[in-house]
Amino acid sequence: MTHTTYQISVNRRIVNKNDLNDTLAFAEGWQPATLSASEIADTINNGCAISAQFEGGLRKAANFQRAQFLAADFDGDVPLEEALRLPLVEKYASIFHTTASHGLEGKDRFRIIFLMDVTIADPENWRAAQKGLAKALNSDPSATDPARLFFGSLGSNPRLFNRTISAEAVEELIAAGRSPKPDSDNRPENDDAIYLPTVRQSSRTIPAETLIKLATGALAKFSEIPKDTRVHCPFHEDTRASAKTLRNRKGTAPGIWCSTCQETFWLEGTRSKPYDFYAFERNVKALATQTRLRKKAASRSRPRSWCRSGLSG
Ligand SMILES: [Zn+2]
Repeated sequence: MTHTTYQISVNRRIVNKNDLNDTLAFAEGWQPATLSASEIADTINNGCAISAQFEGGLRKAANFQRAQFLAADFDGDVPLEEALRLPLVEKYASIFHTTASHGLEGKDRFRIIFLMDVTIADPENWRAAQKGLAKALNSDPSATDPARLFFGSLGSNPRLFNRTISAEAVEELIAAGRSPKPDSDNRPENDDAIYLPTVRQSSRTIPAETLIKLATGALAKFSEIPKDTRVHCPFHEDTRASAKTLRNRKGTAPGIWCSTCQETFWLEGTRSKPYDFYAFERNVKALATQTRLRKKAASRSRPRSWCRSGLSG
C-alpha cells in the first residue's frame, strides 16, 4: 500500500525555532494536513514546524490522534554523508534536511523523515516506533515524545528520496522500541556488573541458523558462537561490534547483549511473551475507513500557502 499523501500537522505560527516569538503556538494552532512528500518538504523549507495530529490542534500527548511519519534527529554525532548511507535510510527514508543549527562548531545537524505507508493512531505505538528508529540509527533518543514538535528549517532545501517506510518495517521498529521488561528467568549466568543494570529481554529473537558477524569480520552461525564473543549487533547499524554473546542461567540458550540497543536478544523460541503484531495490524485495519474519511475532510481544509502568512506577519 503506497500513499501519495501523508497525515501530519503544521503550525504556520512557528517559523524556524520560533523566530516570531509566538509562545502560545507551541501548544496551539497545529492544523491537521494531508500533504504529499514535496508539500511536506516545502513546509519545512518555509520554516514551519510539523508534528503529529492532535485533537483540537492542541499539541500534547493526551491529544494525540495520528501520525504518518517518523523522524530521526542527528545532533552532531554522525556525519551527514555517513547517515545517508545507512541501509535503513537508503531503503526507507523520504525526506532529508539540515536543521537550523547545522554547521555550528563544524558539526552536522540534520533530520531524516520517514513517511509511512500506514498511519499510527496509538501514541504508544508512535513512541515505540520513534524509539526503535532512534536505536536503529543511533540518532537522538529524546525524539520519542508523542507530542514532539519538529521545527522547520527555512531555506534548507530538503532532499526528497521518493520512497516510504513499509508497514512491516514500522512494525519491526515498534517491536524494537517497546520497553523491554527485565526477565529474571532468562538472565545471563554472568553476574558481571556491566550487564546487570541493563539486561533486558528483547521482544526480538534470533533464529539458531542466523549468520552473525564477529568482531574479527568472520561470519558464524548464532547457535555455534561461544559465549563472551564480541559480535556486530544484528539489530542496528553496528560498525563497532558493540555486542557480545552470552548464555542464560542454565547455560542452555544463547543470547546476544548489545550495549547500544541496551537489550538482550535470545535464541528464537526461548522468549516468554511474544509481541502481538496482529493487535497493531487490527488497529491499522480498523482505522483504514476512518482514515479515508478524515483524509477527505483534511484535504478540504488544506492551508493554501505554507507558512507564508507567518513569514510576512
Ligand atoms: Zn544493537
